[in-house]
Amino acid sequence: MSVIIFLVLGLIVGSFLNVVIYRLHSEEGGIVSGRSHCRRCNNDLRWIDNIPLISYIFLCGKCRYCKKPISWQYPMVELMCCFAFVLALVGSGRFISENASLGYGIAGLTATVFAAMIVIFVYDLKYMEVPMIAIWIGVIASIATIGVITLGFFQGVEFFGLPAFLHALSGAMAFLFFFLLSYLSDETWMGYGDGFIALVIGLLLGPLATFVAIVVAVWLGTIVGLSLVIFGSKGMKSAIPFGPFLVGGMFVSYAIGIFAPHWLSVLW
Ligand SMILES: [Zn+2]
Repeated sequence: MSVIIFLVLGLIVGSFLNVVIYRLHSEEGGIVSGRSHCRRCNNDLRWIDNIPLISYIFLCGKCRYCKKPISWQYPMVELMCCFAFVLALVGSGRFISENASLGYGIAGLTATVFAAMIVIFVYDLKYMEVPMIAIWIGVIASIATIGVITLGFFQGVEFFGLPAFLHALSGAMAFLFFFLLSYLSDETWMGYGDGFIALVIGLLLGPLATFVAIVVAVWLGTIVGLSLVIFGSKGMKSAIPFGPFLVGGMFVSYAIGIFAPHWLSVLW
């Protein structure tokens, strides 16, 4: 039952995140003000055109009024958020079975970190910039997650819920590593934003899984970067933001930690 609740919640939050991403960039009023409308023809959308994922499928990805395509970003973010919320729930399963209310608190806080990371993923991909408001939400929610795990006297596993000082340490180390890379390369290899993303990952995941997340991010970045060069859409010199790969690496590493924890040590 709780899986269905987190699944639906993920879709709803995902569609909210799309609004957040749009408003963060355009600074069009507050986050929640105004009705949603088509970005191309400005027609107000009815509730039936606004159901996460389902409306996109029934409208075949086109606006009901002007028939122009709706950006694939909308269903992608909704799906990502849906998967992330279920992942957070599954990852908190052993806490929930020990103490339901604290366990669901951990699941909700982890899901909040994931939601902030999805905003960073899309924003960095689109605008090559990391929104600091999402970083601070991620930092606070990560600290709160580890705080609840510590206060609940839960036994941590290899990656999630280790002693709090190890999480703080890995956040600081990961931040420093990327900060130095940005500083030494004058932001050509990495940007300072990547340091802040690594800080959130380090705080949430602890040392082992953070290292694996960074390794996965570097591999993903290399594969995607090389294929873009080979298949011609990017030159060797054009910059690709690294933030989306870090976010991807975090999700992969968290999933490995849940479903195949011994692989974390193998990759290390
Ligand atoms: Zn339209």
